[in-house]
Amino acid sequence: MSNYEAAYEKLFVQNLNRYSAIRRNIRRRVERVLKDPYHNTEFLDDITGKLNLIGCRSARIDRKFRIIFVICEECRNMYECEYCFCEDLPDQTVVFLTVGPHDKPMQSNKTEKQS
Ligand SMILES: [Zn+2]
Repeated sequence: MSNYEAAYEKLFVQNLNRYSAIRRNIRRRVERVLKDPYHNTEFLDDITGKLNLIGCRSARIDRKFRIIFVICEECRNMYECEYCFCEDLPDQTVVFLTVGPHDKPMQSNKTEKQS
């Protein structure tokens, strides 16, 4: 089985540092995604909250956290995808967009507004 190449977006790296308590689990999940990004991952075709995640996939880490990523060979054919960073990358690349709680996948490290 051929492994996929990994590319990491800035937000993913930021959150990897932010959630350092589960960094090991994240790393392990990343390894598994790179072996087979279609296995045990969820294709997202809906709009979660305000975010359009169509074309992205999610991989669950635990009950609370998940990784959001795209597979370039899949993503680059979808014009709906807003998070395509696949340009100039080979087809067999997984772009890790972010990691975080299920309900706030794209949260950056800006402070949250309490409502
Ligand atoms: Zn793409």
